[in-house]
Formats: sequence, structure tokens, C-alpha cells
Amino acid sequence: MTAVGLLGIGRMGAAMGRALSAGGFELVAWNRSPAGAARLIGELGRGRVAGTPAEVAAAVDVCITMLADGDAVDAVFAGPDGLLQGAHDDSVLCDASTVAPATLRAHEATARAAGAGLLDTPVSGSVTLAEAGRLTIMAGGTAADLAVARPVLDALATTVFHLGPLGSGAAMKLAVNTVIFGLNQALAEALTLATAAGIDQAAAYDVLTASAAGAPFVGYKRAAFLEPDTTPVAFAVDLAAKDLRLIADLARDVGVRLPGALTDLAVIDATVAAGGGQRDFSTVTSQLHAGDRGEEDRPD
Ligand code: NAP
Repeated sequence: MTAVGLLGIGRMGAAMGRALSAGGFELVAWNRSPAGAARLIGELGRGRVAGTPAEVAAAVDVCITMLADGDAVDAVFAGPDGLLQGAHDDSVLCDASTVAPATLRAHEATARAAGAGLLDTPVSGSVTLAEAGRLTIMAGGTAADLAVARPVLDALATTVFHLGPLGSGAAMKLAVNTVIFGLNQALAEALTLATAAGIDQAAAYDVLTASAAGAPFVGYKRAAFLEPDTTPVAFAVDLAAKDLRLIADLARDVGVRLPGALTDLAVIDATVAAGGGQRDFSTVTSQLHAGDRGEEDRPD
């Protein structure tokens, strides 16, 4: 059985670990809080927990990192006993976290000096799709590195797009999330409007799902929108705030204006300020009733 490295066993990392195991891979797992890795390995009944990222990289040919943000990626790649210290000839390090295009590029020279390849492989799809191995992967890097990592990525995704050099996967992921945050906000507004106008919330959701606006996102967020208190968090508001800042930064760097994304960021920031940072990002509905954000938001 081929061993694969998995670092960052949070909501998505754990779900991806289950898909990798179902795809016939044995995990060498590491998480900053060791209990997260031990729990997953215990659940799977095979594989092992490593003591450091360097130990993972030394033990396998392909590593996947699934970490909260760019600071976490920098710490796991280049910190003491980091991945880059264990990287070896013909190994490939794949980062699936949502980060800026520049994040992985900063580690490229060190990885290449060790003979290792580097890919940004961010994903679209949340926990349920990750567990089923049905993510969409956006890869940036060389075709040769992608060929090495491909069997592992295929266990995680229905489609792997190769978009160009290192950083292009990360840029595309931010473009996809620009749509996701717009959809999330539009869905929250449509539901709030329909229910305030007297329509049953579940009926309104049925119509939205069946309508021309019924993207897959609308289908799989149903429980999150209709039963927010009993549905497990899939994507935290704090991470949405991080992503929307990355989107705003990339827009500035490449010289485009994204007024919709800035509005989405303002609502997400208000949700964080109201104490909702650890709730699912569908919770933006809580910001949409008159009086929540002041009279100035209401056109005459
Ligand atoms: P999560 O549940 O909060 O997990 C975050 C992971 O990052 C944990 O393993 C955490 O370790 C680790 N971490 C955080 N800071 C760290 C640091 N400084 N050093 C080392 N490890 C650190 O987040 P998630 O929902 O799985 O998301 C992970 C990534 O995938 C994010 O970039 C997110 O934007 C992206 N993403 C998420 C979804 C989704 O639906 N959730 C979908 C697509 C992409 P500890 O356990 O020790 O805290």
C-alpha cells in the first residue's frame, strides 16, 4: 500500500484523509495539535502519526498540506523540523490550503534545491465532497510534478485542472470563491426576503434549488441555511474573512475592481464582530434584518 503524507487534520484535512484511505493510501499524518492526527489514524485503523512535518516528508513521495492560512503554510513548510527539511529527490509537496498565489512561490527555491517538486492544489467543495473524494482541484506547477502527485489527487477529486505555473491554482481558487461568497450572500438575502414576505422558509429553499439559480452550492448548503443550530460547521466565518481579504488583495495586485466581493467582506466582517467567527458562513443571514446594520443600508 502506498504511503502518503497528510498535514493539517482539521475539518477538511480529516475528510480528505478518509478519502485517501478509501482510495487505498496509507496515511503518515501530522497535525499541530497531535490529538487531531491520532483521532483520524485511530478511526481509519491504519497508517501512523508522525512527530514533525520533516518526518512526514522524509517518509513519503507525496505530501498534502491542508492548513488554515498562509502563516500556517509558512510555519509547516519552513519552521523548525518543517516539510522542506524532510523533502527529498523526486518527492512532491502539494498545498491544498486556500492561500495567496505568492505563498507557495516563496518556498519554491528551497524545495527545488532539495530536489523536490511543489504544487499548489487548492480545492473546491466542502467536507461532504472531500469525504467522498469528489472535490475539484486547481493545480499550479509543472506537468512533471503533477504527474507524480496525480494518483493521490485523483483519490481526492473528480477533476484535476492544471492551470499553469505555481500560484495559478491559488489564483483560480480565489476566483472560484469570489463566486461562492457571492452565491452565499445572494442566497441569504433571497431567503431573508422571501420569509419576511410571508413564504415558508423550506418552500422558498425548494424553489431556489429548483430555479435557474440552483447551483450545486445551493443544494449542499440546505441544512446549513434551514437548520443552522444543528448542522455541523463546514466552513467557518473566520476562514471566509481570510479568503475575502486574499481576494481583495489579489484584485488590487492585478488591477481590477470587485465591488461585490468588498460588500461580501463587509457582511462577513460584521458577522465576525457580532461573535460569529466560528459559525458556518451561511450564518450571514443573521446580518440581514432591518436594524441589524443601521438605517443607512436601506434605500428609500
Ligand atoms: P480548520 O478545520 O480550521 O483546520 C485548520 C487546520 O490548520 C488545522 O489542522 C489546524 O491545526 C491547522 N493550523 C492552523 N494554524 C496553524 C499553524 N500556525 N501551524 C500549523 N497548523 C495550523 O479549517 P478547514 O475548514 O479544514 O480549512 C482548511 C483550509 O482549506 C483553509 O485554507 C480553508 O480556507 C480551505 N478550504 C476549506 C473548505 C471548507 O469547506 N471547510 C473548503 C475548501 C477549502 P490545529 O488542529 O492544531 O488547530
